[in-house]
Amino acid sequence: MKYHLVTLGCPKNKVDSDGIEMLLRNADYRPTDRQQDADVLIVNTCGFLEASKEESISVLQEMGRRKRKHQVLVAAGCLVQRNGAEVLERVPKVDGLLGTRRWMEVLQLLEQIRRGKNRRSLERYTLLGEAELAPSVEFLGASQTPALLGDPAHAFVMATPRPPVTAGSAYLKISDGCNAPCAFCTIPSFKGKLRSRPLEAIVDEAVALVDAGARELVIVAQDTTDYGRDLGAPNSLPRLLTAICQRTDERLRWVRLMYAYPGHVSDELIEVMATQPKIAPYLDMPLQHGDPRTLRRMHRPSKLEMVYDHVEKLRAAMPDIALRTTFIVGYPGETEEEFQGLLDFVRAIEFDKVGAFTFSPEPGTPAAALPDQTPDEVKQERYARLMELQQPISLRKNQAQVGKVLEVLVEGEGEIEGSGEPLLLARSYRDAPEIDGLVLAPGVRGVQRGEMIQVHINGAMEYDLVGEPLVTEVFSSKRATPIALS
Ligand code: SF4
Repeated sequence: MKYHLVTLGCPKNKVDSDGIEMLLRNADYRPTDRQQDADVLIVNTCGFLEASKEESISVLQEMGRRKRKHQVLVAAGCLVQRNGAEVLERVPKVDGLLGTRRWMEVLQLLEQIRRGKNRRSLERYTLLGEAELAPSVEFLGASQTPALLGDPAHAFVMATPRPPVTAGSAYLKISDGCNAPCAFCTIPSFKGKLRSRPLEAIVDEAVALVDAGARELVIVAQDTTDYGRDLGAPNSLPRLLTAICQRTDERLRWVRLMYAYPGHVSDELIEVMATQPKIAPYLDMPLQHGDPRTLRRMHRPSKLEMVYDHVEKLRAAMPDIALRTTFIVGYPGETEEEFQGLLDFVRAIEFDKVGAFTFSPEPGTPAAALPDQTPDEVKQERYARLMELQQPISLRKNQAQVGKVLEVLVEGEGEIEGSGEPLLLARSYRDAPEIDGLVLAPGVRGVQRGEMIQVHINGAMEYDLVGEPLVTEVFSSKRATPIALS
């Protein structure tokens, strides 16, 4: 049996897809890149923004259109959790639905679909309303079912099957759901409140990932810094990170922290980050805006002094730290003055990396109902101005790396456009996978993905660095060929 799995959305979804894949592989399913060769088609959807919802629906519709008679099509993930009924209505060829905290039941779902038994689906069916679900559809999890948000603990906290490690890096999800009240965000409405995994289960998974080849663990959750609150132990992230560092051996080089909530960054966390050598001096702290008035309407922490204080402490404790943040521009009621406040804030802090989105009014969120929605052309114009401001800052930050030797994790090989010359693609501690830049080493080939080497940095661009490998063997046990410089 073969499966074809498409993952949309963020790294948290990727973690679930990795888990789904492991379960399928353990059950003798084999992956295939070609839809027509698969028996099982799975789309792990994203439902965060209206645009991501539409992308998920369109991928499902396309798969449904090409689906053959013997094939089974499963929609999984956030969009299913957010609005399973809409998925079924718009993609009638879907055979099964799998909510975000039920991915570990994928085999049971497939079994139910195959056997054509739908006793269980009927239980859910009544919860969703008979008109909304076709009787043949097997269903595990749905947005409208309170039963799902109250999932039995074991369904989420059970030991995660060891997921594959790609290019020496693996995501490690420590919790799901979110307690924050951000007015623009749909996540708490369909993921529910924060649910932290037990510390021991996470540490066990970290150890297994390192054994499977991970040199980097990327810690993800909706809010990583709120870890433990629901377990009666708020601010447990420092303890968790310490345990991960202590229980793993020296093969683990970087523990990278994503999605920190400014109100939950503590002095203990900064101290652990600064004193545990395995924790990369890198922090992703999405701030969403830099003007207190906009932040208040966003229902976000609006005391900018707190952010300035965090940044000062982080930089004092880790002078080489790379700080990443994300902003939303064009939030309802954002005046030119408020936008200028954001630009001033960006100028003052000088983040190493900035991501930005234009505001998207998500149905059901308080922000969507706010008056003074910003016109699209104003959003686009402000987005462009923000990125234009940030680019020289990012460039300066990258130029400051020239002359240094950085340890990098090799991601693969490419070619220099035009010349065909080989190009080694790697990342330093300053770059998170998929969202940040790369370290490029022209003329280098023959280094396996997932290996760590030392690179002397001799060039900088806005997003990427350029360098030349110095040390060819760091934690390299399997490489057959030495690095070739051409
Ligand atoms: S902290 Fe992030 S996930 Fe939580 S509500 Fe705010 S934007 Fe959404």
